[in-house]
Amino acid sequence: MLNKNVTIKELETWLRETDKQKLEQLWLAADAVRKEYVGDTVHLRGLIEISNYCVRQCTYCGLAADNKKTTRYRMNADEIFACAEEAARYGYGTVVMQAGEDYGIKTDWLADIVKRIKTELPLAVTLSMGERPFEDLQRWRDAGADRYLLRFETSDTELYKMIHPPLPKQAIDRFEILRQLKLLGYETGSGVMIGIPGQTYATLAKDIDFFRQFDMDMVGVGPYIANPLTPLGRGEIKPDISPEKQVPNTELMTYKVVALTRLVCPQANIPSTTALATMNKESGRELGLARGANVVMPNVTPVQYRTLYEIYPGKACLNETAKQCQECLAARIASIGRTIGTGYGSRNHGPRANLD
Ligand code: SAH
Repeated sequence: MLNKNVTIKELETWLRETDKQKLEQLWLAADAVRKEYVGDTVHLRGLIEISNYCVRQCTYCGLAADNKKTTRYRMNADEIFACAEEAARYGYGTVVMQAGEDYGIKTDWLADIVKRIKTELPLAVTLSMGERPFEDLQRWRDAGADRYLLRFETSDTELYKMIHPPLPKQAIDRFEILRQLKLLGYETGSGVMIGIPGQTYATLAKDIDFFRQFDMDMVGVGPYIANPLTPLGRGEIKPDISPEKQVPNTELMTYKVVALTRLVCPQANIPSTTALATMNKESGRELGLARGANVVMPNVTPVQYRTLYEIYPGKACLNETAKQCQECLAARIASIGRTIGTGYGSRNHGPRANLD
């Protein structure tokens, strides 16, 4: 079944599908649903990577506290505001502030930045600060933050523990935080990495089903990219799983997940991610957009910081200025006959595309 009611079993079958003609049907179905529910508009979100400090030890991520090879930075409030101004100048309707889980980012300090952006610029504000306490999430929401991104990374709790060790005395459940975010009135986004060692087809099918159950406002998925500065990337952690169950971290698998996610979350905002563009620099962005995605997140972080926000190696567009990113993406979007969105580009709650 190729619609919103696709079963978990069918999701798994699609994830294993190799027949080109069948896959073509999937791409066409996802593209039709995308067009029907969110239209031809591609929304651009300016990404500001405000700090690469992190207290966590995620075994896949280059920002992990243990990685002593990374030079750490935290942008100051004026630098962040200048990036937001630049994003607004390019006509982006949203800025996304992302960071490692950095408690040097003080609650009130970030609240003041959010307030300033919301007061002075015509922008929606998205935060992606990791597993912060409820009080912080509340404070930032009160300051005017519109959205929050927190990928649950995998719905397999054993695998999650392996790739994302908890802090001492703090058993945190990302699903619980996602529920809190919804209650606080954030547009709530999540997602997973595709092809993490230990991820099975059955788990990934459940992940997609979870996007549906939760009625996610935003879903970001990208291939897992091994980082040699991490234990998982060096192969020091080896999950006990038979090869035929392991999901590959390929470009094709990522398109399948993007397309299936569009089917189960027709109204969601779904980005064609940088990790996808990293795998296929020629046309990864465009193919993501053609197979279900409707959002792109151009980086507006100053280049000197951007190169230090190295969650994985070889990130696409690493040395391009914000201006170059903007021009490149505008050309790519035009080349596939889509138009660039204006305004916030919030989640559409109506039954069909709001084409205003
Ligand atoms: N501290 C925030 C932001 C983390 S970076 C948080 O924990 O939510 C944003 C995303 O990058 C992560 O959620 C993860 O899915 C992705 N990421 C990290 N390391 C990666 C890797 N090696 N390959 C692919 N994606 C990765």
